[in-house]
Amino acid sequence: MRYYYDLHIHTALSPCGDNDMTPNNVVNMSLLKGLDIIAVTDHNSVQNAGAVAEAGRKNGLIVVFGMEIETAEEVHVVALFPDRESAYGVQEIIYRHMNGIKNREDIFGEQRILDGQDELQGRVDQLLITAVSLMIEEVFQIVTEAGGVCIPAHVDRDSHSILSNLGMIPEDLAVSNIEISKNCDRVTFLGANPGLERYGVLRSSDAHYLWDISERENYIETERQIKDAGDVVELLKKPLNG
Ligand SMILES: [Zn+2]
Ligand SMILES: [Zn+2]
Repeated sequence: MRYYYDLHIHTALSPCGDNDMTPNNVVNMSLLKGLDIIAVTDHNSVQNAGAVAEAGRKNGLIVVFGMEIETAEEVHVVALFPDRESAYGVQEIIYRHMNGIKNREDIFGEQRILDGQDELQGRVDQLLITAVSLMIEEVFQIVTEAGGVCIPAHVDRDSHSILSNLGMIPEDLAVSNIEISKNCDRVTFLGANPGLERYGVLRSSDAHYLWDISERENYIETERQIKDAGDVVELLKKPLNG
């Protein structure tokens, strides 16, 4: 079976995410696009993922709790979790390793916490788009121990990517899949970057606006039935195209 996905979507919780990225808008747009699975990946926080999951549940959309963690090396890593508990456990550790800078809404934008009906519940005070004081190895270890999986984000980009910032993917890092950007061509990219063939390649939108959410074009092909986020995370622990 083919499951169409977009595993990198921001909500209004990310300061750079549009305020229209509410739980119900994200779910409805994903359904309009014909997606089966999405992941909510705000910067360093999972606080809106539960609301999106609630909105998704009513419509049969699988919503994965995720977080785009910025490591001490300023590498963006998409962390995906099998359930709410594991996600919140890791968020607690991430929050303890933030640098304490307060958000300035006039500069960075609002960090809105919403519920399943898109009602404003509050705002996160500390600035979420900063590097945490955890090295990439530590982030991988914390997420893996919680039962989640890490995917280096937008590896084709010139900044905030594992290739731009570290120059390579460290051998001992438990990477199975890497993410390329929405407009990156997989074949061209792999041709220009030999050595990455052993990784599965996912392509997600990194949507900050509703219209950025992926079309029905990227899919996971599997004989197993995917019922929930736990199944998605389990599959992503191995290279998808491998
Ligand atoms: Zn990023
Ligand atoms: Zn992102």
